[in-house]
Amino acid sequence: MTDLQGLRAIVTGGASGIGLATARLLAERGARVAVLDLDPGDAPLGFTADVSDDASVRAAVAAAAGALGGIDVLVNNAGIGAAGTVADNDDAQWHRVLDVNVLGIVRTTRAALPHLRASAHAAIVNTCSIAATAGLPQRALYSASKGAVLSLTLAMAADHVREGIRVNCVNPGTVDTPWVGRLLDAADDPAAERAALNARQPTGRLVSAQEVAAAIAYLASPAAASTTGTALAVDGGMQGL
Ligand code: NAD
Repeated sequence: MTDLQGLRAIVTGGASGIGLATARLLAERGARVAVLDLDPGDAPLGFTADVSDDASVRAAVAAAAGALGGIDVLVNNAGIGAAGTVADNDDAQWHRVLDVNVLGIVRTTRAALPHLRASAHAAIVNTCSIAATAGLPQRALYSASKGAVLSLTLAMAADHVREGIRVNCVNPGTVDTPWVGRLLDAADDPAAERAALNARQPTGRLVSAQEVAAAIAYLASPAAASTTGTALAVDGGMQGL
């Protein structure tokens, strides 16, 4: 499939999990892809960036746009988790998670906007989560951050549609990435915990990073030219359950 042929894409958090799968799939489909990450690893076009640091984001986006010759697609995927109720997270933790998960998108988008405005196929895809709407227990801070990502996606879609920039998000369920691997490894019996986690999924298994990447690639592609301001669930039927 070559539906992203010639497009120039940036993926934040593109060195692991959903971001890595997305960077690879966009490249397979013909895009040229720059990865922005705290540690871009061995990405062919990798730039070190911390989305919680505006100067770092501006420098990395400028460098990536220079290397790509512009930006058509921005995938705002970098994010961090937090467990607990409102009783458990202090102000510093709230500021940190909102700074990365919400303001990270704002900073990267602000830096990329002049390039996106110059593109004939401009699309932004934000990695949100079913946590935005599902009312998950023990995830107050994380859920609030993703609720903000959902609202931000809708507001950005309205603001930029007349400039030819589409903005959508994906809402993954529980995805088999190093992030979830780290949570499982912290359990007393990781294998039993993984089995229990799989059993809680309506499909009997976790969502794969490649499945989320496929949804992101679709929303980024010209095939979705009339789709903006949507959230595409990739959650194995978890939403609303
Ligand atoms: P991951 O931990 O495997 O990968 C996240 C990547 O983001 C890492 O490469 C990390 O270095 C990078 N990153 C973290 N903070 C950063 C920062 N400040 N600046 C730049 N890069 C940074 O995680 P994942 O599971 O692939 O998650 C990716 C996104 O998907 C996140 O936004 C997460 O909230 C969302 N998500 C994940 C799941 C899941 O079950 N794994 C479910 C729903 C949504």
